[in-house]
Amino acid sequence: MKEHSIGIDIGGTKIAAAVISEEGSILHRRVCPTPTAGQEFVIEKLKELIDDLLFWCQQASISVKGIGVGTAGQIDFATGRVLTGTTNIKDWNDIPLRSVLTKHSLLPVWVDNDVNVLTIAEQKFGSAVGEKNVICLSLGTGVGGGLIVDGQLVRGMFGAAAELGHISVNMNGPQCNCGFKGCLETYASGTAIARMMNERLNKTDEVQADSALTSRQVFDLYHQQHSTAIEVVNEMTEALAFAIVSLIHTFNPSVVVLGGGVMDSGTWIAELVNGKVKKLGISSMVQPVRITRTKTGVDASVIGAAYQCWLYQ
Ligand SMILES: [Zn+2]
Repeated sequence: MKEHSIGIDIGGTKIAAAVISEEGSILHRRVCPTPTAGQEFVIEKLKELIDDLLFWCQQASISVKGIGVGTAGQIDFATGRVLTGTTNIKDWNDIPLRSVLTKHSLLPVWVDNDVNVLTIAEQKFGSAVGEKNVICLSLGTGVGGGLIVDGQLVRGMFGAAAELGHISVNMNGPQCNCGFKGCLETYASGTAIARMMNERLNKTDEVQADSALTSRQVFDLYHQQHSTAIEVVNEMTEALAFAIVSLIHTFNPSVVVLGGGVMDSGTWIAELVNGKVKKLGISSMVQPVRITRTKTGVDASVIGAAYQCWLYQ
């Protein structure tokens, strides 16, 4: 019998769990809001979702080979421990998630960072199929990164490598939450795009703070040739281009994949960034690089999470 895996994507607002085939198809899916009351409630919810999916598999005579989890934050992949989680999930720190879920399910479990599993999904099923040197940037509330060098995910000393959103593109730039200055995240996250627009408009008294615009509205205005929105999009894509050129100089990738909620608005951002990147840096290194958008869409993280069961078996 062909084996399937369970993939779980733990996000700040929702948890998605699904039964996945080795070809990356979703057979059955459950999505629920992320409990807000603390880590024990999140763990209880994970156990409930796993029981539910395992019961479904049993009914459908599907055998399950393991469980793969992707979650925001710093993860010690070797032990499957969440070291420092996202501030979006209350108290999501210092959790031996792998051992808790293995004990509950009696199945092998792998736990990794959410952008690492997105990168795995893109390399296996998306825009970077067959590529051995891949840079992935996820532009959402923040900016996350995933990095494959010579076919291997780069993890670093304790799993924190590839915090690509915290590469500085301006030593005199805005203060970042991380403590650094001018991080890519302060220019290219959804939060930053909205902030840059609202700061500029408030200066010219076009809007009040209570009518602050979202990044999606900034993009709509950009397409209507709104001059301030054009300025903001230029600054955002310029910051992305400078960060990407530095990454190309460091890692010599063949493809850069851009994903996350900010990229849902179409391929035009990747095209703008590509145009800028190709005019910067060491020509022999930047010219061959393909800059593209993720292909695996909203299910990328849950598919990538599940695929760990085949990748590391
Ligand atoms: Zn930062």
